[in-house]
Amino acid sequence: MKAIEIDINLQQIKSDLFFEKEIEVIVARLDLIHPLISGNKIFKLHYFIEDAKRKNKKTIVTQGGAFSNHLVATANYCHSNGLKSIGLVRGELAEKASHTISACEEAKMDIFFVDRGAYPEINEQNFTAYIPNHLNDQLDQYYFIPEGGFDELGAAGASIIFEKISKATPPTHIITAIGTATTIAGLIKNCHTNIEIIGIPVLKGMKDIENRLAKLLPYQAYKSPALFYDYHFGGYAKNNHLLLDFMNEFYKEFHIPTDFVYTGKMMFGTIDLIKKNHFPPGSRIICLHTGGLQGNLSLPNNTLVF
Ligand SMILES: *Cc1c(COP(=O)(O)O)cnc(C)c1O
Repeated sequence: MKAIEIDINLQQIKSDLFFEKEIEVIVARLDLIHPLISGNKIFKLHYFIEDAKRKNKKTIVTQGGAFSNHLVATANYCHSNGLKSIGLVRGELAEKASHTISACEEAKMDIFFVDRGAYPEINEQNFTAYIPNHLNDQLDQYYFIPEGGFDELGAAGASIIFEKISKATPPTHIITAIGTATTIAGLIKNCHTNIEIIGIPVLKGMKDIENRLAKLLPYQAYKSPALFYDYHFGGYAKNNHLLLDFMNEFYKEFHIPTDFVYTGKMMFGTIDLIKKNHFPPGSRIICLHTGGLQGNLSLPNNTLVF
């Protein structure tokens, strides 16, 4: 499966609220693409994998936390492309128990834990130092992908999402959750119309989004996205009853499952902005369902109705 060949399902959802505000709301169901290579990840990985193959690399090395959607997606995407993969995971062996890590291992990813102090220092130049010696015999076979695909190639891959969803009936707004900001960089990269691109950061106090965009989109002009900072629910992977109840209600009304780290917060923010009249009548809003549903497995049983 190649990112460029994927069809994105655009699902319009209807409610009294949207009717009253005279707007259309469409969910781009990237979550339906693949259960484990879900959402935005397959697009962000696309050009890296192409580049690695072209350079005859055999093993992809990447990094992430113990609950990282990026890790699972990379493990599975590599496996289905005949590439080996290595995951450098933040934290200690105790976190091995996570569903995410098990899913990576099922896709034959070799996992190595890197302690929290050293983890932020991992980069393209030094990453081999974190791979235990017995694997170091093939250093020139390794290809490094930064966490979350945070790189120009990742943003270029994410721009395929924009190409696909902005064509048929052009939206007035596209809204996405922000983690590393690679996906939103892809959305603004080739957006030369007046579509408003909106980002909902899921980390608390993210102050460097503009810097991140400048790094992801060097040497090019782009229109900055609109950013709404009030929907992080306490920070990355933090949640509370307000969010979880919202996700359950959203599922009951529209039969669309969301995840508590990204898309639940993005949809909560969207509905709140609709209520606060951010979107003028006639707006056609596309919400990116970026996937990530495997992350819900870390919640206690029966927290969610889906
Ligand atoms: C990784 C992820 C994001 C964040 O994407 P960035 O490109 O890092 O901003 C959003 N939603 C889901 C479901 C994800 O897994």
